[in-house]
Amino acid sequence: MQDKTIFQKIIDREIPATIVYEDDRFLAFLDINPVTKGHTLLIPKDLYVWIQDMPNDLLGDIMIKAKELVIAIKKATACHLVEIVIEGNDVPHFHIHLIPVHTGHKIASWQHTSYENSEAQTFAKKIKSCL
Ligand code: 5GP
Repeated sequence: MQDKTIFQKIIDREIPATIVYEDDRFLAFLDINPVTKGHTLLIPKDLYVWIQDMPNDLLGDIMIKAKELVIAIKKATACHLVEIVIEGNDVPHFHIHLIPVHTGHKIASWQHTSYENSEAQTFAKKIKSCL
């Protein structure tokens, strides 16, 4: 059997976490290394690695749960907005980061690039053909 992910160990109470919400399908807990205080991770209890692995109904419901948590986190932390990030660089268990952002604090700093000539059209055409 495959080793449990860290998040499955949290679900099974094998390692501690500060839980903020739980039901039979979802768990939300504070990130151990928060970007800002109140940074919460929302996960499905069943193991899916990528968004494309998630059944549509579960994915829809987890986004509705994320919305509820965003409302609660915004109220609880008096932040300006709650940034929603799906990254998945480290833990191979689908999770949504909910990060309180306070006024004047920019979290994501992406390195932007640009398209040359008709490159944008080529990319758009390729993506459209895969839909
Ligand atoms: P990602 O996979 O999206 O790059 O990030 C995984 C996130 O999980 C990180 O923000 C990291 O701090 C958090 N994380 C990793 N291990 C633990 C843990 O044992 N407990 C908690 N609460 N969070 C964790």
